[in-house]
Amino acid sequence: MTPRILHPWEDPAHPGNSPRYLTGKPCIVRGCEEPAGTVWSRLWCQKCNAARINRIGASLADMQRRLDSLMATAAAASEDKP
Ligand SMILES: [Zn+2]
Repeated sequence: MTPRILHPWEDPAHPGNSPRYLTGKPCIVRGCEEPAGTVWSRLWCQKCNAARINRIGASLADMQRRLDSLMATAAAASEDKP
């Protein structure tokens, strides 16, 4: 099986996750002691930031699926009308 290609925020070696973005503060996630700072956010560590962005992406994808479903239902209903 081919491994999934990492998104830039998931790849610890991506330049956006380089030490130059570290803020010197810990990640804001409770219980996480990792250093905060990536090109995507100053508040989260790389792993927590990747999980956060993936959650947002999954939420947007779910909204898109539901919107597509509603649009298909509306289109089918309008085709049924004489
Ligand atoms: Zn963290």
